[in-house]
Amino acid sequence: MDSLSRRALLSAAAAGATTAVVAAAGGRPALAAAPQSGQQAPGFYRYKVGSIEITVLNDGVSRMPITDGFVENATKDEVNAALDAAFLERDFYAGPYNPIVINTGTKLALVDTGTGDEGFKSSKGINGRLPISLAAAGIDPASIDAVIISHYHGDHINGLIKADGLLAFPNAEILVPAAEHKFWMDDGEMSRATKPRVVFGFKNVRRVFSSEVLKRLRTYDWGKDVIGGVTAIATPGHTPGHSAHVV
Ligand SMILES: [Zn+2]
Repeated sequence: MDSLSRRALLSAAAAGATTAVVAAAGGRPALAAAPQSGQQAPGFYRYKVGSIEITVLNDGVSRMPITDGFVENATKDEVNAALDAAFLERDFYAGPYNPIVINTGTKLALVDTGTGDEGFKSSKGINGRLPISLAAAGIDPASIDAVIISHYHGDHINGLIKADGLLAFPNAEILVPAAEHKFWMDDGEMSRATKPRVVFGFKNVRRVFSSEVLKRLRTYDWGKDVIGGVTAIATPGHTPGHSAHVV
């Protein structure tokens, strides 16, 4: 028993809990002939900030291999030691994506759009799950009045367009940070990019920001309301125009 790792013990405890539920239900153990679902349940969580209703929606998770230099100020060994200490899998970074719907009572705004149909396809449904979570939460994409973008990485903007190139939120104005838009749409900045993930980022922004997207796009400034009740604040660093929003 003392050779069991904590993770194995937790798994054993979880299996025990399942057995207990079957026993409590009074049924015979299942014959395991039922098809396994093979995918995660849609996820959303709702709460209030004053009179404003917030719904956090899960878009899934991205699993990225940790290479040397993945964390710029720590070695791979140091990163793995931190993962071990947190009982997390070594050598991989799992990043969850959670876009947010803000219902102010007069406006229905979505903050960030997840990885979209393209992410869903390339990850085999591990991410790109926002449409599934929206449906589970009873939110029609056509009812979204405004999409507020925090920054231009793919896991935040790719969900603006569907696989067929049409707008995923056809009635929404697309509100983007002015500083972020200026950086990523600047051909000079693009020509000076050297890191592969930044070079890819520029290409991706130009793919997603089709004429249909640009037609609906309006920039917002830090320190001002993006929509009534939601103020943008400057949080550059992750990207030059990265923004947070205070409800
Ligand atoms: Zn990012």
